[in-house]
Amino acid sequence: NDVKDIESKKVKYNGSHPELAARLEKETLYTNPGFDYNDVAGLSDAKRILQETLGIGRPWRGVLMFGPPGTGKTLLAKDVATECGMTFMNISCSSLCGKSYGESERLTRCLFELARGDALTIIFIDDIDSLCKHETSRRIKSELLVHTDGLNNSNSTSGNISDTFDERRLEKRIYIPLPYFETCKELIRINLKPIEHKKAEGYSGDDLTNICRDASFSGMRRKIAGKTIDEIKNILKSEMLKIPMTMENFLETVDKIKPTVSSGDIQQHEKWYSEFGSS
Ligand code: ADP
Repeated sequence: NDVKDIESKKVKYNGSHPELAARLEKETLYTNPGFDYNDVAGLSDAKRILQETLGIGRPWRGVLMFGPPGTGKTLLAKDVATECGMTFMNISCSSLCGKSYGESERLTRCLFELARGDALTIIFIDDIDSLCKHETSRRIKSELLVHTDGLNNSNSTSGNISDTFDERRLEKRIYIPLPYFETCKELIRINLKPIEHKKAEGYSGDDLTNICRDASFSGMRRKIAGKTIDEIKNILKSEMLKIPMTMENFLETVDKIKPTVSSGDIQQHEKWYSEFGSS
């Protein structure tokens, strides 16, 4: 599906820089609506603002999402694109950093030409501040501004590309913070979903505590496998504690540790409860 979408985009490009378009396409990740759906935890205000901004249908709007990395900015944009039936073009800012003078502007322009090949597209540019040299990044941002409001807003200073880019001119500026406690819980729940397929039910609280404890040691076990006692002693305790547990470790542990309560036991308790229990 993804491949087909990319091919159809290639045909649609009829701008003046096919070679730049081809370069961008290679580095662009397209996702089809309805494809690759992920659950987003929290971020409901941010989601509403994005939906409203995109839903109104006026083209070429600029939205800035800022905040620490790994907090769901990409995921959220993808999610909203999917919901709105839009194509999602994910491109790293470094792909827009041209080598020669003026190339970055041409690449940026070309990116928008590519997106015009499809009526509904979100262009998601990652790491806008961190990957280019300051001057290149400034020029890319100025060009972006032209496409996100400059040319479509009659009151704007369109044409004056050399205007200093100011993030405040983007139509929406959404802060995506670290997750709050409730969102953390939701994140953990989402990530434990695969365990539902492994039949997490049937375990007692004690079993689940043991699974978590055992899984947390799995990284450590990997680290010490095949080592002698002396070698193990030399591994710093602080280093041991830093070894991450992966979802795979967790699922392996769920497989390994069986529920300690049998279904026969449960049936007996339930039978007794139905006869003599207090309600
Ligand atoms: P950012 O773009 O802010 O750097 P990403 O959206 O790429 O972060 O998040 C990286 C991964 O972390 C996601 O693919 C997802 O697995 C997980 N993640 C981060 N935030 C969330 C969230 N709010 N809900 C669900 N998953 C999240």
